[in-house]
Amino acid sequence: MTPADHTPTPSSDTERIARGLRGGDRIVLSRAITLIESKRADHRGSAAALMQALLPDTGKAVRVGITGAPGVGKSTLIDALGSMLTTNARKVAVLAVDPSSRRTGGSILADKTRMARLANEPNAFIRPSPSSGTLGGVAARTRETMLLCEVAGYDVVLVETIGVGQSEIAVADMTDFFLVLALPGAGDELQALKKGVVELADMIAVTKADGDNIARAKLAASQFSAALHILSPRSPHWSPPVVTCSALTGEGIEALWSHILDHRQRLTASGELAGHRGEQQVKWMWTMLEERLFEPLRSDRALKSSLPRIEADVAAGRLAPSAAVEKIAAMLARA
Ligand code: GDP
Repeated sequence: MTPADHTPTPSSDTERIARGLRGGDRIVLSRAITLIESKRADHRGSAAALMQALLPDTGKAVRVGITGAPGVGKSTLIDALGSMLTTNARKVAVLAVDPSSRRTGGSILADKTRMARLANEPNAFIRPSPSSGTLGGVAARTRETMLLCEVAGYDVVLVETIGVGQSEIAVADMTDFFLVLALPGAGDELQALKKGVVELADMIAVTKADGDNIARAKLAASQFSAALHILSPRSPHWSPPVVTCSALTGEGIEALWSHILDHRQRLTASGELAGHRGEQQVKWMWTMLEERLFEPLRSDRALKSSLPRIEADVAAGRLAPSAAVEKIAAMLARA
């Protein structure tokens, strides 16, 4: 048996979807996203076949991750940047990774009025975060949505995440460029940003640099700059710049985009972009496999109901952790 025996084969249905996507059909794009978000086993097979068929058409977009605390100005900036790009004949997709959206009953992007200008642009596609599941599951569906958008001709993909938990890492892992937004004058500038996030940053943009805020924004930028210099850069070809911008006045938005393009050009020339994407693909594979292997623990009724007892037995010292693992593994094999 060759490994190819298990490669999902496209059906006439997947070929029809693939054709629609390549033609940039938005309705087909929405349907394809619904398919990859579906948890039904038969849909999962079709989704994998679709992704396999589309593979040669993916990878064409500039993939940008954007993070920052609530209120920092993410949606306003995405609205301004996205509108500038669509004006320049770009097609822009805006996605989000927000695993907490189940708790709040909606998504950070559900309310498209937050990006009022962009929402009305025919060349923009705004999709809220998948609404439930683990971070790994939400990230996997967002990644595949990004690939579908690329096939549909979107040449810029902006992936937004709120600055909490591990979601920043998940977004940095699916994008080429990670943009961290920071507020001016939020006291101790370095404390305001989590160290781990600064390490992921390809650029820091101090937002709301307008009116009375300009001087404070410039000061914050110089402090961030000093902090970044202490860190060793992730790429020998890129030192993360610190910029100021205002989504309100538009000041600095063009420069922000120029930095992103400059980064792309340098890392393409050095071969790092391709290498980085290859590593990301392998990492996605393992994350998805992990999700898949753990799924019965979340969905199999018998397994799910026996886990709290096993945990309690382990905690109370009645069951050795290794014996518990054997027990769960045996149940998993039967699930
Ligand atoms: P998000 O939670 O990070 O998406 O932040 P929003 O984009 O919703 O912005 C939060 C608040 O900051 C809103 O009241 C915006 O009007 C305001 N805001 C966003 N960008 C700017 C800016 O460039 N300048 C000023 N002065 N206010 C801004």
